[in-house]
Amino acid sequence: MKEQTLVILKPDAVARGLIGEITARFEKVGLKLVAAKLVHANRELADKHYPVTRDEFIRGMGNKTVENYQKLGVDLRKELGSDDPLEIGKMIREWLADMITSGPVFAFVLEGPHAIELVRKICGHTLPLMANPGTIRGDFSFDSSYLANTAKRPIKNLIHASGTEEEAAYEIPLWFSKEEIVSYPRVEEAVME
Ligand code: ADP
Repeated sequence: MKEQTLVILKPDAVARGLIGEITARFEKVGLKLVAAKLVHANRELADKHYPVTRDEFIRGMGNKTVENYQKLGVDLRKELGSDDPLEIGKMIREWLADMITSGPVFAFVLEGPHAIELVRKICGHTLPLMANPGTIRGDFSFDSSYLANTAKRPIKNLIHASGTEEEAAYEIPLWFSKEEIVSYPRVEEAVME
């Protein structure tokens, strides 16, 4: 079950000086850092990372927003000019590409058993308002769709992590060459595995 997953500490996390605190959480659980760099991504990389052609991802973001607004009783058409999940998703994707290129990010690859699922669990819910305490998003942010969308910006939830094996296989080579990914033993492996 050994997997590799891509993690990006977004510009809000880097600007808030949270790199050490967040990476420490992954190291503590036994996940191995096998690549890392501070990088100011250009638009081309951002558009590959958040591709406009990934319908499922775009619609998913739109659906989450529609649900959230319905719960809050906010008029989507009035607020965002549309109530179509795909249209809303596309709008959010643009904001995301702007945001991820707005400042340096800290990108890294973690390796370990169930790394993809484990990292997502440690990150917490996409919407920090709904993320449990103890998770990165729950502990370091209070953001919500409402706050983000009324300000016409993406959710500031500090971190991106690959959601599936396919996503990880697509995303890791976008950010790291083969030579940048290293291999070494961690001493706990002998005890934990
Ligand atoms: P996750 O990052 O948890 O995998 P998604 O893939 O659904 O979540 O969304 C990607 C990113 O888009 C989120 O991390 C968040 O920054 C932003 N986002 C998602 N939904 C919204 C929304 N309703 N409004 C603004 N930004 C959003």
